[in-house]
Amino acid sequence: MTKQILLSTPHMGEQELNFVKEAFDTNWIAPVGPHVDAFEDEFCQLTGAGYAAAVSSGTAAIHLALRLLNVGQGDEIFCSTLTFIASANPIIYQGAKPVFIDSDRTSWNMNPELLREALEKRAKIGKLPKAVILVHLYGQCADIDPILEVCQKYDVPLIEDAAEALGANYKGRAPGTFGTIGIYSFNGNKIITTSGGGMLVSDDEKLVKKARFLATQARDTAPHYQHSQIGFNYRLSNVLAGIGRGQLQVLSERVQARRRNFEVYEKALSNLPGIEFMPEAEFGYSTRWLTCLTINPQAFGADRERLRLALAENRIESRPVWKPLHMQPVFAECESVGGEVAAYLFERGLCLPSGSNLTDQDKTRVIEGVKAVHENKKVSQDSLSMV
Ligand SMILES: *Cc1c(COP(=O)(O)O)cnc(C)c1O
Repeated sequence: MTKQILLSTPHMGEQELNFVKEAFDTNWIAPVGPHVDAFEDEFCQLTGAGYAAAVSSGTAAIHLALRLLNVGQGDEIFCSTLTFIASANPIIYQGAKPVFIDSDRTSWNMNPELLREALEKRAKIGKLPKAVILVHLYGQCADIDPILEVCQKYDVPLIEDAAEALGANYKGRAPGTFGTIGIYSFNGNKIITTSGGGMLVSDDEKLVKKARFLATQARDTAPHYQHSQIGFNYRLSNVLAGIGRGQLQVLSERVQARRRNFEVYEKALSNLPGIEFMPEAEFGYSTRWLTCLTINPQAFGADRERLRLALAENRIESRPVWKPLHMQPVFAECESVGGEVAAYLFERGLCLPSGSNLTDQDKTRVIEGVKAVHENKKVSQDSLSMV
């Protein structure tokens, strides 16, 4: 049977197993230990972040970020609409309300102009949000400068969700290090993985110390178990931190491989009518975590869903671009600012297999698969007219 080509799979380097073995040899099989500390230090060196707390997932990191900013019942949080639901779920965990902000076309990320207008309006009626969650989608940075500027003007803390953007940069600096708090994910499908894991960073040491405290059940200093606050069990295992240390060593290779996937696809497919690749905004360097394109069905001869199903028949996994959160049934009652751009990108957008471990042969199969759908359009139009 032909090999299944998946969207994005884990890609281990050579050192991970040695770090894991060290954890076993020294019996540090706990959510604490030397690998956790070293992973945090090495992560700071790599990103330029001030301080870091390793946690069990990116979602946990966002949840902690909201707790650190005292987000609670009835507060409002502005959040990018075009993203994975994990960006917004912790808002609900805290009893707060999301307000979704649309994307711009240059970066597919939060539109700074819409954010500015929305904050201005809210300032006038004295109802500013408690924080803004800014997503750096598919490895591309949002236009951080104007977003940060308007957040600072109204004194609204910025949380950067850089789960998909480790290894990217905005004007030379790592996304996640601009806002009050940044978060990253090491889930199995991300650019580097610990199988499951996340990181919270900040330049404010007090915040990161408090994150570690809350992530270990908020245990007060005492010989017995004493608690004056409700915490979480969110710390990263020392075994998994070992995997993370190995993965950090190959991060730039992984980013290069993903960018190379994009280049190969773009070279082979961008001349097909109706296909447009996700642009790379001039202010940043994208990880190209996933290669995304949009399809104009009239020009291409098939819509996004037809293409996806045709690829699936050839055992090639592709995925629609994130369904915007303002369109999700679970958020039907939530307010949103714009949303047409994100809806358009969802309707037309498709993510191609993008793992850093794809072979040339895999990519050739994907390319041939896409081309075949376009070339068959004539045939299928004829068969349609026969019906
Ligand atoms: C993966 C992802 C998360 C969540 O990370 P987990 O480690 O899976 O909890 C959050 N935001 C975005 C944009 C993601 O892609």
